[in-house]
Formats: sequence, C-alpha cells, structure tokens
Amino acid sequence: QTDGLLGPAAIRDLAQQLDLRPTKSLGQNFLHDANTIRRIVRTAGTTPDDVVLEVGPGLGSLTLGLLPAAAHVTAVEIDPRLAALLPRTVEERAPALAGRLTVVEADALRLTELPGPPPTALVANLPYNVAVPVLLHLLELVPTLRRALVLVQAEVAERLAAGPGTAAYGIPSVKAAWYGEVRRAGSVGRRVFWPEPNVDSGLVSLVRRPPPPGDRAATFAVVDAAFATRRKGLRAALARWAGSTADAEARLRAAGIDPATRGEQLSVTDFARLAATGDGG
Ligand code: SAM
Repeated sequence: QTDGLLGPAAIRDLAQQLDLRPTKSLGQNFLHDANTIRRIVRTAGTTPDDVVLEVGPGLGSLTLGLLPAAAHVTAVEIDPRLAALLPRTVEERAPALAGRLTVVEADALRLTELPGPPPTALVANLPYNVAVPVLLHLLELVPTLRRALVLVQAEVAERLAAGPGTAAYGIPSVKAAWYGEVRRAGSVGRRVFWPEPNVDSGLVSLVRRPPPPGDRAATFAVVDAAFATRRKGLRAALARWAGSTADAEARLRAAGIDPATRGEQLSVTDFARLAATGDGG
C-alpha cells in the first residue's frame, strides 16, 4: 500500500513483533482494511485544522489514516505494549507526520486531562465493552470536541442513535443526546478486523449542540431511574428517585408529563425539565 495504511500482512507483522495475543477484555480487534480506514476518515470529515482525539489506537490502523488529514492526533491507549509501539510504527511508515502525534498511555475512562492542543474531534474504533462510557466521559471531559465519529458494535450504534418511542431507545440514547445530535453513519462488517469479532459494527456520528437547560448530573440520575424498570409507568419507576409515588406524580405533573407514560417516550429535554422540578421546589 502506497499510503502507509496497514493491511493484513502489516498487522500480522506488528502483532508478531510484540508477540501480541489480542485481549478480548480490552476489545482488541484491529482494522486491517485500507478502504474501511479511508471511509472512516472521510465520514469523520476531518480537516487540516482538526485536532483529533483517538481512543485505543491499537497497532495504529486508524491513526495512520488520520495523521495526513489532521493538524494533530492525540491517541490514548491503555495497553503499554501498543502505546510504546505506536510512535515507532508512525516513524517508520509516515516519518513526515510523526511530529503530529501525541501518544498517551492511559485508561480513557480515568482520564482527567489531556496533554497537547485541545481536541476538536473524536475519531475512534472504540473498545466495544466500554464504548458508551468512554464516549460519554470524553464528551464531558473535553468541551472543545465539536463532533465525534466512533465505530462500535452495531447494536450499540443503533441504541446510541435511537429516538424516543423506538425499541432501541434507552439510557445511552438519552445521555448521548444530552451532548449532541446523534446519527448512524454506516455499517462495517466483521471481516475487516483481526481477529474477527463475532458481531457486526456500525459508525455513529455526534455533532455537538448546546445541552438542554438544566443540570447534567441531576438529569442523568432521573434517566437512570426511569429506565431501571422498563415495564413500569414513570410514576412507579420514579417513586424511589422522588421519595414516594405521590412525589413522583407531583414532579411529573409539574414538568407537564403524564405520570402513566413510560421513560421510552421522553426526550432528553423532557428529562432535564423533570430533573429541574427538584430545584428549590
Ligand atoms: N484503533 C485500532 C484499530 O482500529 O485497529 C484498535 C481498535 S480496538 C477495537 C480497541 C483499542 O482500545 C485496543 O487497542 C485496546 O487496547 C484499547 N483500549 C481498550 N480499553 C481501553 C481504555 N479503557 N482506554 C484506552 N484504550 C483502551
């Protein structure tokens, strides 16, 4: 490949150098298909002004695709072997771009700050078992992120992008909607990964918009309560959250919500309004 992207042979080589057996619990499925990598970079709309935050660069498949398109890439990798190999891989395959890369060896879920220029876009093939918490944590931690394009398990992509009143709508949908407009941005089959995962994947894009009026933590607390018992109407589901069934009913009515409705029907703005009924009243 002329563009330095990693194909199956390069992935095999790099894994061999590290004597790497991919770890399932860390979601280590590496992209080895240049077309998919180019598609992700294109769909992300990365521009030369962008500072990209990548979580889980792994062997560098996506990183090598992002570096030519962006001003800078900050890559956060939990696995010390992979974090150590990445600068060498970039130095070898794209030496002119090596100065654009910052590698941070860390658990993305525990990050409290980032070195380097403030990221404008998150682009990542996320570790599947922590994809939603990582996405939400970074949107909260890094207010300069204007958009995100993430590759996740297909079912999670569907949940993240679901709207009120649909079967897939739930906690991830509402929380992601707090930060921005979320859409599905394409499917990715399992054959483009090594090792092959046993699920299909999907791209999800989020474009940030101002959050609804209200407090995030208070809103997320009522969202968690509302979806904890999916089959109940909100009056019953929120009894513990509000203190009693009567208090739940009063707060729902104060927010203009029918107490018999279920959480699946409410938008993030409805949840924010409901959470705010606790403010001084
Ligand atoms: N970006 C690479 C690619 O597309 O080939 C690898 C993607 S792989 C699905 C996920 C990567 O995230 C792995 O390299 C894994 O070690 C890393 N990872 C897993 N959990 C992480 C965490 N909590 N914080 C940072 N990186 C993590």
